Amino acid sequence: MVRRIVLATGNRGKAREFAALLGSDWEICLQSELGVKPVAETGDSFAANALIKARHAAAATGLPALADDSGLEVDALDGAPGVLSARYAGEAAGDADNLRLLLARMAAVPAGRRTARFRCVLAYVRGAEDPAPLLVEGSWEGRIATSARGAAGFGYDPVFEDGASGLTAAELPAERKNALSHRGRALRALREQLRERGEGRPAPA
Ligand code: IMP
Repeated sequence: MVRRIVLATGNRGKAREFAALLGSDWEICLQSELGVKPVAETGDSFAANALIKARHAAAATGLPALADDSGLEVDALDGAPGVLSARYAGEAAGDADNLRLLLARMAAVPAGRRTARFRCVLAYVRGAEDPAPLLVEGSWEGRIATSARGAAGFGYDPVFEDGASGLTAAELPAERKNALSHRGRALRALREQLRERGEGRPAPA
């Protein structure tokens, strides 16, 4: 039986990643295609925001819903930009503005104190009032570079150095980034949890 699920995003790139993970037992609909407007992300943690988005999408559609929330945590900045990653330099800021501000705030931080991580939390609810939502998390440890390098990816990728290789996320091929990234890890954890709960028959990695 194919089950419909609404994805609390309008981002087709994310939808493709989720479709590949969940496999053919699930028919994925983007909330934007169902006329659902994005909800304000008022939570103070990735988990809170992911849950707000999932419950909102389920309430508006009557379908099970999946949402993600992610961002960058920099130790020398006490975890900033964190949940504000997308709007670090202001509500109207783009990736380039956010990057510039991050590099400026890190300018005086010595090499040994530039540790950081990307984090991603996924929330899955069977309905808006689901008393037992599924929450899974993935993280990716690394460091903040002193200048931007690489052309792939998006967001903070050009200044986030993978802890193992030292390459920035924007210097890694997409499939390598997916294997290492916070989002890839969270998606694989979600697949495991859905399998354990007997919900759907997810595709192989
Ligand atoms: P959201 O999960 O779409 O709300 O993303 C939050 C923000 O975190 C994005 O706008 C990016 O600035 C940042 N971010 C999340 N994941 C990544 C990533 O894989 N690479 C670079 N930046 C990311």
